Amino acid sequence: MYAVLTQPISILEGVGPALAKRLQQRQVITLGDLLLHLPKSYHDDRQSLSIAQLQTGVSARVHGKVLNKQQRGFGQKQSLHLQLVDDAGDLLTLTFFNAAYMMRDQRLTEGRKITVRGVPEHWQGRWQMSHPEWQVIERFQAGFSPVYGSLAGMSGLRISGFIAKAMQQLQGCSPLDSVLDRTLLQALTTIHTPEHDLDMSMIARAHQRLKVEEWLVYLHALQLQRADIVQPASIYHNGAIVQQLLQQLPFQLTAAQAAVWQDITKDLAKGERMHRLLQGDVGAGKTVIAALAAAMVIADGAQAALMAPTEVLATQHHVTLQGLFAPLGIEVALLTGSTGIKARRQLLENLADGRLSLLIGTHALLTEDVRFHHLALAMVDEQHRFGVQQRWFLTEKGASVHLLAMTATPIPRSLAMAIYGDMDLSLMQGLPPGRKPIETRVLAQEKFPELLAGMQRLLAQDGRIYWIVPRIDDDEAGISVGQRAELLQQQLPEERVLALHGRMKPKEKHQVLSDFASGQARVLVSTTVVEVGVNVPEARLIVIEQAEQYGLAQLHQLRGRVGRSSEQGYCLLVAGSELSTTAMQRLQKMRDCHDGLELAEMDLQLRGAGDAIGVRQSGEAGFRLLDPALDGALIRSYDLATLNRLSPKQKMELTAISTFWRPTMMHE
Ligand code: ADP
Ligand code: MG
Repeated sequence: MYAVLTQPISILEGVGPALAKRLQQRQVITLGDLLLHLPKSYHDDRQSLSIAQLQTGVSARVHGKVLNKQQRGFGQKQSLHLQLVDDAGDLLTLTFFNAAYMMRDQRLTEGRKITVRGVPEHWQGRWQMSHPEWQVIERFQAGFSPVYGSLAGMSGLRISGFIAKAMQQLQGCSPLDSVLDRTLLQALTTIHTPEHDLDMSMIARAHQRLKVEEWLVYLHALQLQRADIVQPASIYHNGAIVQQLLQQLPFQLTAAQAAVWQDITKDLAKGERMHRLLQGDVGAGKTVIAALAAAMVIADGAQAALMAPTEVLATQHHVTLQGLFAPLGIEVALLTGSTGIKARRQLLENLADGRLSLLIGTHALLTEDVRFHHLALAMVDEQHRFGVQQRWFLTEKGASVHLLAMTATPIPRSLAMAIYGDMDLSLMQGLPPGRKPIETRVLAQEKFPELLAGMQRLLAQDGRIYWIVPRIDDDEAGISVGQRAELLQQQLPEERVLALHGRMKPKEKHQVLSDFASGQARVLVSTTVVEVGVNVPEARLIVIEQAEQYGLAQLHQLRGRVGRSSEQGYCLLVAGSELSTTAMQRLQKMRDCHDGLELAEMDLQLRGAGDAIGVRQSGEAGFRLLDPALDGALIRSYDLATLNRLSPKQKMELTAISTFWRPTMMHE
């Protein structure tokens, strides 16, 4: 069965080279990867509604005949408008933007019966849906259907087709003998092909089984990793450059920063390799600690490297650290996937002969031809975005390299010990002085006009605004980054409204962020790509649309983009119209609480098992399903000792299965 799971995605009918490549960019390489794209929820498709029964804003299934279709607009802006008539003779208009190709779709000829699911709106006396999912009626199966999030530009519906094919392959393979095999197959079957009468507790149990497996595989990797951690290493305690750096900082270290800095200086002077995890809340000031640590090794002629999970963040660190080190005459270089060939060659040369002492970058730093003259310190920022082994990879670029990892993920200490058993922990509590708690409000979508007025007031004071939209694609329900940016541009004609999302070219992303940072544009509509680390102190307001879709820890991260100066910061959580009581409670907690750790714990209490399905918020440690914010109990109930009790055969199983659970490297 593992053999099937590790087959490349391209063996599926309909996955050509171009699609395979796009999926690969989203880390979906094997059938197993695809099958870990779990449903977000399940639709009750046991019955359909007549058009007369529709309710505004409530997702519904409708069957009907195509009455006519019409194309409007030109070129890229073409849209398709399709009239559907149901058995009672009522009409529903379906609108598809940028969908000229659908005009020629044979399945949509007049008189054909189709079935759609979407969110209806009542507008000028008519029912309409934009971008509903649709199928010809013959392909429709009544029952519960899994709902998948879009992936690599494919709609959830298209994904579900591929997942069904992958499941068939899996079920068709030879009889299974091992325990892990059977558990995995059963769990995947329960989740992807639910029974006619859906039992959410069974689905939850299947999720749990998968998570247990993922955790055991992780522990196994951790155990292998631990074996070679303790190593003698060079001593660094020459504080000359460090003192210079401290003197030119525009602020004094907080007590918490000073304490952490003490931990690190002790580690570096110990003669043993450091492996320290620095945990500090969003905005606590971790970057300057990284700079100090780098200065310490550079003072003795050695090299330091800092790796960040996104290009956006790496670039920002480059700018910050350049600002700190330039006055000391120390050059700081940046290496990412988009560094030009020539610049890259020069940089690598300087790195190899030691002329360059500080290198910042993305996982491009891990490429084989990146060779250091004498790397003494590897630093990994937002390390929870990297897998258990990946966080050590950078240290392999030298001998006995000290490791400093940083994270803002608020996880309780006991959990951190279980997950990062291979590291020493430093907790940096509190924020730099003068920060005011970010004023947080929950707002109904209908209040947009008032929100706009508030934005204008803030812009009049030269504040800057983030506006977060949950998706990029035009093919899903809800508004896209581009559409929201366009709308805001119309509403704020005096401003330059920018759009940012992970799929833009790196160059474009840099341009957008630097325009926003410099104030050339003051409104930025973005996906959660700004979630980690981005630091624009002038940003005063963050608006988070469909805020109920996020976990509290993630909302806390996003909120941390503002309130990074002594000016009052604001966060507006805009809630959709179909809000459950728990969802509302969660948003209210967010309003009242400003402590990352407390929020993570509250989230856990407020969610039921069913609620937690398909919702991950921290992406900790490169886990695919496990979420320390939600799965604390599971994590605490299995530790390294559990592994010692496994039989040799079971251990072999774990090794085999680890290729399936291969941790993901998070991307932008
Ligand atoms: P994070 O811990 O989230 O990585 P950053 O390192 O980006 O936080 O720091 C956030 C902001 O706080 C930066 O603008 C930084 O210059 C500032 N800062 C850091 N330390 C202090 C301090 N001791 N006093 C005042 N401001 C500080
Ligand atoms: Mg940071």
